[in-house]
Amino acid sequence: MTVPNSEKKVVSERLYDNYAQSFTVSDLLFEVKTEHQHLEIFETPFLGRVMLLDGVVQTTEKDEFIYHEMMVHVPLFAHPNPNRVLIIGGGDGGILREVLRHQNVEHVTQVEIDGSVIDMCKKYFPKHSNGAYDDPRATIVIADGKDFMASCTDMFDVIISDSTDPIGPGEVLFTSDFYADEKKCLNPGGMMVAQNGVPFMQGDEVTNTYQRLSKLYQDASFYVAPVPTYTGGFMTLAWASDDALLRQQDTATIEARIQQAGFETRYYNADIHVASFALPNYIRKLMQ
Ligand code: SAM
Repeated sequence: MTVPNSEKKVVSERLYDNYAQSFTVSDLLFEVKTEHQHLEIFETPFLGRVMLLDGVVQTTEKDEFIYHEMMVHVPLFAHPNPNRVLIIGGGDGGILREVLRHQNVEHVTQVEIDGSVIDMCKKYFPKHSNGAYDDPRATIVIADGKDFMASCTDMFDVIISDSTDPIGPGEVLFTSDFYADEKKCLNPGGMMVAQNGVPFMQGDEVTNTYQRLSKLYQDASFYVAPVPTYTGGFMTLAWASDDALLRQQDTATIEARIQQAGFETRYYNADIHVASFALPNYIRKLMQ
């Protein structure tokens, strides 16, 4: 559907009752109600292509680099030698792309509930996965991450949960049962990270996740990144491991690993890595 310039269409995201973000749409490229969710992909003059799931912004071409770099390089450079990685969700392929840039990653499994998201993002957001789905190190599983984790016997060094919000199919990925199953599949010295919402808008997500992870791990916390289209200021990314030192490494240590890895990033760097764990008081207060 091409919208004539004279009648530019505006789409509003309805994640919150009393607050919305809107953007001009130049074209609706694809829309389907999959078995799991409502998938829409728009062309927009300001953000490039935008994907919504159940009316919630999942990713945009313009700002995806911030989120995907921070979800991946903070744990993968904090871990001294991340060989085996698990991704839950991440259907647009951005997380997988960034994980595979680490040559010391020998194997990554991605568990995505909705194959349509992978297929349509390969087609409409080719730069997100950028060929990652064809990497021999990658194994793609189409399944509910909750079911996969409950029966998983594999072990991983880093687990990254890049799910939708805790409404709809993503809800099960924010439960104590899921976190407990996840921990059973973490190697010693490993860590989990997870998309955990925008605390200025969804503060209870920080409180709930902190309470649940604190019961399972020696060290549960968050780190932050400002993703413009996850509107409301800092997005929190949940972090948990059994060694608090893993998130207290200094810039020099991280910088040495970045140099060793030998690839460029657009947002992430060693200073940002260290600083991202510094939480504003309004977020600290939610961690009770
Ligand atoms: N970066 C986005 C955010 O912060 O909201 C998430 C992007 S990614 C597209 C979210 C993915 O989680 C989608 O592909 C969705 O299909 C997947 N997902 C939702 N619930 C899931 C579940 N229970 N198991 C596996 N994948 C799930």
